[in-house]
Amino acid sequence: MSHIELKNLRKEFGSLVAVNDLNLTIEDGEFIVFVGPSGCGKTTTLRMIAGFEDPTSGDITIDGKVVNELEPRDRDLGMVFQSHALFPHKNVADNIAFGLRMKKIPKDEQVEKVKEVSELVRITDLLNKMPGQCSGGESQRIALARTLVTEPSNFLLDEPLSSLDAKLRRELRAECDRLHDELQKTFIYVTHDQEEAMTLADRIVVMNKGRIVQMGSPLEIYGDPVSYFVADFFGNPAMNLVEGSFVAAGSGFEFQSPQFNIPLPANFNNITAGKGTLGIRPENVTIGATDTGASIRREIELVEPLGKDTLLYFSTDADRPFVAVVEGTQAVQRHVEVDVGFPDGAIFLFDANGDRIR
Ligand code: ATP
Repeated sequence: MSHIELKNLRKEFGSLVAVNDLNLTIEDGEFIVFVGPSGCGKTTTLRMIAGFEDPTSGDITIDGKVVNELEPRDRDLGMVFQSHALFPHKNVADNIAFGLRMKKIPKDEQVEKVKEVSELVRITDLLNKMPGQCSGGESQRIALARTLVTEPSNFLLDEPLSSLDAKLRRELRAECDRLHDELQKTFIYVTHDQEEAMTLADRIVVMNKGRIVQMGSPLEIYGDPVSYFVADFFGNPAMNLVEGSFVAAGSGFEFQSPQFNIPLPANFNNITAGKGTLGIRPENVTIGATDTGASIRREIELVEPLGKDTLLYFSTDADRPFVAVVEGTQAVQRHVEVDVGFPDGAIFLFDANGDRIR
């Protein structure tokens, strides 16, 4: 069994704290995705695990052994980066075999292993080509093959797909998923793309400003965000988040904002009067009367048919529009008034600090 532990891991660059006391255990075979906005410390964390960056303090252990002092090549890790930097004057087969030559693996064994991994990532027809003759997606597969061939126990991938177009990204994302499934090795993957994180991860580690703000399965992170930041980061279209106040009304509370006022369901235990935010995911907003929850009467200001779904926009003049997603191509008209519903179980509340109110 191989597992990686980060203990109070910290990295300072001068006065900047890039990674702030990270604690995390990554289990053998897990697909972990570090996700967060640019500058949150994802790459620095990965580079410390890889051995390219020394921690300011804290420990990295692999299989119970502290590896802080070990050279990258002695850590049993394979890295794939966004810029794959293939050797331009070597053909694809030689590029893939590079790590094996460094390890002085016999030539016939090299040929056999190159054949094996190129079948795995489906690039056998490229082996005699030069890198300059390969597309972006093909180059990324070659970079993957070059890492796979050295058979590391753990793979570190830093935004490996970000230079590709959307369709190729989706294709290679599925490929990464399949490879992880076949190899049963540990994958640690860095991305700023919430969709990539949601689709690939066994467990997502959400980072902000050098800290872990939430860890969990994709569905936990999506369905049970601990803060405004996490709620806002995951989901496309994003969660509707409306700034306002919680005001005592009768035996409960009302949410009041410049956009609308609605009574809040009784199932929240920790509301206190004051400023806060109400959130509801666009797919949970109902159009037409509902049995549970409040509703408001609103004009549809914009209709965006996406094929599979249709987006309805309300209050487009607010800081952020209020959006509902309805299934299919609906014959909905602009400038028509409808009942916009907030089912009780679909409402998220956040206090003035952005922490979730339950
Ligand atoms: P991105 O998605 O943009 O790559 P990231 O989450 O991977 O962002 P890091 O690259 O880890 O973020 O950077 C974290 C912080 O540390 C940033 O503020 C960055 O400017 C800073 N930083 C990273 N490397 C160095 C360095 N070598 N010297 C000084 N500051 C650095």
